[in-house]
Amino acid sequence: MATPKPVLHATLDSGQVIEYLPEVIGEGGMKVVHFTPDRKSVVCFFKDVGVGADPQRLPRLQNIVGKYNPTTDPKTGHYWKDLFCWPTAIVVKPRLGVVAPTYAGNFFFASGPFKGKEKQATWFTSPKLRRMLPAAERGTWLAYLQMSIRLARAVRRMHNAGLAHSDLSNKNVLVDPASGAAVIIDVDSLVVPQVHPPDVLGTPGYIAPEVLGSANLELTDPQRILPSRRTDQHALAVLIYQYLLGRHPLRGPRVNSTQSAEEDERMSMGERALWIENPTDTTNRPAKLGVSYKVLGPYLAPLVERAFMNGLHHPAERPGADEWERALVKTTDLLLPCANSACPGGWFVLGEGAPRCPWCRTLKAGSFPVLNFYRAGKTGQFLAERHRLAVWHHARLYPWHVFDNHFAGEGADRTPQAYFARQSGGWWLMNQGREAMTVVGAAPIPVGGGIELKDGQQIQLSKAQHGRLAVVQMVNG
Ligand SMILES: [Zn+2]
Repeated sequence: MATPKPVLHATLDSGQVIEYLPEVIGEGGMKVVHFTPDRKSVVCFFKDVGVGADPQRLPRLQNIVGKYNPTTDPKTGHYWKDLFCWPTAIVVKPRLGVVAPTYAGNFFFASGPFKGKEKQATWFTSPKLRRMLPAAERGTWLAYLQMSIRLARAVRRMHNAGLAHSDLSNKNVLVDPASGAAVIIDVDSLVVPQVHPPDVLGTPGYIAPEVLGSANLELTDPQRILPSRRTDQHALAVLIYQYLLGRHPLRGPRVNSTQSAEEDERMSMGERALWIENPTDTTNRPAKLGVSYKVLGPYLAPLVERAFMNGLHHPAERPGADEWERALVKTTDLLLPCANSACPGGWFVLGEGAPRCPWCRTLKAGSFPVLNFYRAGKTGQFLAERHRLAVWHHARLYPWHVFDNHFAGEGADRTPQAYFARQSGGWWLMNQGREAMTVVGAAPIPVGGGIELKDGQQIQLSKAQHGRLAVVQMVNG
């Protein structure tokens, strides 16, 4: 008979005693990690005994697990559990630590050369590593957009609660391009600005230039800049740029110090940081840049410019996580599938010019509809919104398209209201909503019925308050 494995015991701050396994399954800069016997949770102990002695630490952890915890929200908590690996309890004995859920299985490689390893963005965005991945793990460009949305949304949620992460990086965000999932981990060192000073400066490549530029000053020096929401905004922009374009925005050929590699890194990511795509100063542009950031389309390209031009050295100019989230969600509406079955991206953003896929240069053939949205003004007229939906076979219309006061966020109703289909050479809209849609100058579209889309058609998607008008435009590929 096998002897049962020994278990160790830890006491929570509530007094409850839990079991954990003696084997150390992971070790980071700050913590050692053990499984609970059911392997559904991990117990993480702080390595530094000074952390346990810090009188601020326990109340800080209590705030993170309690007051600031989005995963316990009765309405949206379930949604946030997928986006954060949020601590569920505090351990006080034998040492200070936290209990957290185990990362979902899809954030570990199931096969291939990296089997068992955590999926960090670097595996997918570095062209060299990416080539070594099984095709099924690489994901389409749509998945990278979805990962970006989830990350921006999670950061927006933290920032709205007054928290800063302080160490957002490829190490602290796990991704799964096969499904488009992303999760923020290591949430226990969150910063409540003005209350909890940060533990770390951040991770190289993601630390904001002003933090790196003042890192040589004493912590108490008023000129010293510490991680905050503004510095999270820099890290968020870097991560989104990496996910969507597969390269780092500041790592180019320019040498900023010949003294040492460390000094060059400090200058290149700090006070002399320069975007590799800066249109006026091209001294950091790689010889082979790849596709321009402009392929990200009309909503994201201006945010990229703000983040890496003015915002790079002027933190107040950086786009907020909420702005990224909205621009990313709207960009989803401009996506078109690439006709080339061997395309490395699979999807691309419809821009102003011809519908050509930037990842494989295939031009989309034939004409297809685009819906231009108008919202109802106070006096009955409809106002243009600079919001378009590119239509593809099996694309859907959701409540956030039909109504101008719905947003595709954590609490959104995701019931399809219509779908589009290409049939006998024409494009059709099929009404799946709960009311007929009105067509200006034609018969209404009943529930369950459809209409063939024609250039210039005006469809009132709902007569209810906030119902939008969609004007059909046929685009030729
Ligand atoms: Zn393509």
